[in-house]
Amino acid sequence: MSKDERCHLAAKKGKFDVPHPCDELKQIAKELSCDMTDGKFAKHMDDHDPLRSLRQDFFYPKMKEVLGTDLNLVDPEEDCVYFCGNSLGLCPKNTKKYIDVELDKWAKIGVQGHLQGEGMPWAKCDECLDSDMAKLVGGKPGEVAIMNGLTVNLHLLLISFYRPTPKRYKIMCESKAFPSDHYTFQSQINLHGYDPETSLLCVEPREGEMTLRTEDILAKIEEEGESIAVICFSGVQYYTGQLMDMPTITRAGHAKGCYVGFDMAHAAGNVPLYLHDWDIDFACWCTYKYINSSAGCLACIFLHDKHKHNNFPKLLGWWGHKFDTRFTMNNELDLSPGAYGYRISNPAGLLCPPIKASLEIFNKTSMEELRAKSKLLTAYLEYRIIEKYGHTNGEAEGTLESVDGDFQHVHVHIFTPSDPEQRGAQLSLSFSVDISYVFKELEKRGVICDERRPSVIRVSPTPLYCSFQDVHRFMEYLDQALKAAAVVAATDKK
Ligand SMILES: *Cc1c(COP(=O)(O)O)cnc(C)c1O
Repeated sequence: MSKDERCHLAAKKGKFDVPHPCDELKQIAKELSCDMTDGKFAKHMDDHDPLRSLRQDFFYPKMKEVLGTDLNLVDPEEDCVYFCGNSLGLCPKNTKKYIDVELDKWAKIGVQGHLQGEGMPWAKCDECLDSDMAKLVGGKPGEVAIMNGLTVNLHLLLISFYRPTPKRYKIMCESKAFPSDHYTFQSQINLHGYDPETSLLCVEPREGEMTLRTEDILAKIEEEGESIAVICFSGVQYYTGQLMDMPTITRAGHAKGCYVGFDMAHAAGNVPLYLHDWDIDFACWCTYKYINSSAGCLACIFLHDKHKHNNFPKLLGWWGHKFDTRFTMNNELDLSPGAYGYRISNPAGLLCPPIKASLEIFNKTSMEELRAKSKLLTAYLEYRIIEKYGHTNGEAEGTLESVDGDFQHVHVHIFTPSDPEQRGAQLSLSFSVDISYVFKELEKRGVICDERRPSVIRVSPTPLYCSFQDVHRFMEYLDQALKAAAVVAATDKK
């Protein structure tokens, strides 16, 4: 794809420009002469899914293995329903093998493993992976470094990009930023002697709305831009699942002289990104969510090439020093240009193999192909929820017969944008029944998703390893769970 096509694609938004994937699903159902709620439809979609074999590259947990599952309610030999790739991706089958190579090397040759032996030389194990990582986010080689944890990286980047002056001292973010990001912004502001009360500019959704409108973000940038040093939103918002219009926000920020960065924690490996072409100044993300690299694994930074030779303030360590002269140890810093210059410590040799195992799977396809499947998969889930329980982004209501024969009203509300261009894989659901009951009942049936207090369950059918039949099974278990939850809730009230 050319740069122009990409930018054009990225600029496209709104349901009027692109046909809704649900129309494609309806068309297929029509050709099959079967209803979309029919298990046959889900099976047909899986049989014709060009990416279906990728599931075999992961360990997909069985019902009998997931804790809390009541094995009287489900078939213990069946796969669980794993809709939690937004929180922790599944384990690629090659992960263990690649870690074992490094462990064996350590056992056999000790320190020599830094440069010799099988697998990845530890001294460059991050460098073995960062060009594939760059590909995943639309960065050029040299624009991405793999290091530290996500929040640490956000701090390191803000040290360079947030340099407040009496005239330009604000950080702009979303009002419901992930707590860790919010604390990062607050503490960076404090560190410079400014007050978060007046320096942290949080953009809020309109009254009665859950997601941000791009037009409102742009209006705020227009209004306050001259006093903003850094704009830093999420690429995909963790709570609502909203995919932000990154190129448009970036352009608007630059027009006002602000630096623009994004936290891609929920975007990387979920939606196609073109960080370089979008002209984003900086970005950071973790690799354990959609990138399946194991809990707390190494995170990444992106630094746009235009900042390659910057002389911004940064925190330094020996790993930022150019490789060729790094071990001269003469305390004369010869800093690597670009993202590499932001590295501080030597990379963890045992944390790179999981990233390698995951990137190998991504390399079998492309983010564009994954996105095509993801749009259909999430639209299918959305359709099934609306068909059963009501509407999206409005009054959602369905009538449900509870197990003891009473009719109960159950509302399921999807507050992730219904426009497929404004979301990734995740749908955020709220319920008229207390979610802790719903969540418990889902867990009993081997549905792994996540609960975000006070009122949200996030479900994420990840296109790498989730199927249309998983969505179909999810709907059965959700129905059972809601019925059971309604009964438990009613009993608890008495
Ligand atoms: C997951 C996530 C984090 C987690 O930060 P760590 O430093 O990896 O613990 C931070 N910010 C956002 C937006 C996230 O989604």
